[in-house]
Amino acid sequence: MSAEYSVPQKRKLVTALPGPKSVELQERRLRSVSRGAGTLVNIYMDHGAGAILVDVDGNQIIDLGCGIGVTTIGHANQEVAAAAAAQAAKLTHTLFTVTPYENYVAVAEKLAEITPGDFEKRSVLVNTGAEAVENAVKIARKFTGRRAIVALDHAFHGRTNLTMAMTYRPWPERAGMGPFPGEIYSVPTSYPYRDGLTGEEAAEKTIDYINTHIGASEIAAFFIEPIQGDGGIVIPAPGYFKRLSEFCTENGIVFVSDEIQAGIARTGAWYAIEHHGVVPDLVTTAKGIAGGFPLAAVTGRADIMDSVQPGGIGGTFGGNPVSTAAALAVFDLIEQGDLLGEAQRVEKALWARIGDWPERFSVVGDVRGKGAMFGVELVHPGTTTPYPEALTAIIKHATTNGVIVLDAGSWDSVLRIMPSVVISEELIDDAATVIEQTLAALSGL
Ligand SMILES: *Cc1c(COP(=O)(O)O)cnc(C)c1O
Repeated sequence: MSAEYSVPQKRKLVTALPGPKSVELQERRLRSVSRGAGTLVNIYMDHGAGAILVDVDGNQIIDLGCGIGVTTIGHANQEVAAAAAAQAAKLTHTLFTVTPYENYVAVAEKLAEITPGDFEKRSVLVNTGAEAVENAVKIARKFTGRRAIVALDHAFHGRTNLTMAMTYRPWPERAGMGPFPGEIYSVPTSYPYRDGLTGEEAAEKTIDYINTHIGASEIAAFFIEPIQGDGGIVIPAPGYFKRLSEFCTENGIVFVSDEIQAGIARTGAWYAIEHHGVVPDLVTTAKGIAGGFPLAAVTGRADIMDSVQPGGIGGTFGGNPVSTAAALAVFDLIEQGDLLGEAQRVEKALWARIGDWPERFSVVGDVRGKGAMFGVELVHPGTTTPYPEALTAIIKHATTNGVIVLDAGSWDSVLRIMPSVVISEELIDDAATVIEQTLAALSGL
């Protein structure tokens, strides 16, 4: 994208990281903010543009995380900011379920257009991803009259009590904070690097597990992530989702694609399930939808969505006028700036730059990804044993050198790379060079 940015798209360090002002803020924070709201990197940010964040000490930092896949269109996009500011000066709240407004309807219309499937659709707008997942659970249960909810191994669906139960890892997400709701089941997934199965073989394993542990006729909804984000950028083998969605159709199960991380242009398609040629019954959207403003949605088949009684879903801030104004600006930007094409450009650039890491570095077991959503799985050399200490070392070196990267994976051993789709090839190259310094050291090079 040939946009002009208010911050040069270059990494530039003017202090050690974290700098003195960050250290000072960190001291205040430890006295005021719950330890539970832990932070990956204690560098306090002040502003940003495109793929660069500028911290309180004036360091320009390459952001390969986007606040976990939120600022897909780039930081502080001026068109989104202007749309939100104009809306904030006009009307900030009515509560859609008391007195409605157009933005909410316009976002629902757009979601009907961009989500997979050409059947009639409806949406409900909420605030967060977890809230969208919770609502999808309620809607699917109401529609089917069934109770059981199925999620995949390595899944992440949120941090509320219900969605924690649907999330795979006990630590740190769940430990000590139960009890969790019942009738939630984790089932085996397809993880090509680790199981070596074809999509069909993995699907048979999943289905057999369901038939022997739960019973298909008990299941209201089957939740998948088209690409598991927090689970370690796990992309199931071709054909896996196709078979699962057929199984759901055959058995009256609502098939839900949780697109909260992978959706909205990140993988080079509006929704990542499109890469698998599957049309889900419901999709959940959040993170990237509004350029950083809180907004989430459940969208899907009109008969399922309309099975809920009026008042059965909703909430005070859901589909807030300012967030929906921002989302409408994001939709325009994605279309006008060809951001699906930009995500495909980033994918090509990442494959070209880091695709050979498994051959070059013995601690890299696998590189995988789609669009601007990549994972690098770290292993002990010559094995497939997860190597979480390698990830810790990479994150430490990268962040002290001005590159923000994310962790992921059930064994904390997948480096997650999720830049804005507007990131330049130069920044990808510079960031990759920094990461390679640690990979080389860990690989004994
Ligand atoms: C982040 C995420 C959620 C939870 O979204 P929040 O907005 O943090 O509640 C749910 N599902 C997936 C796939 C996510 O990546």
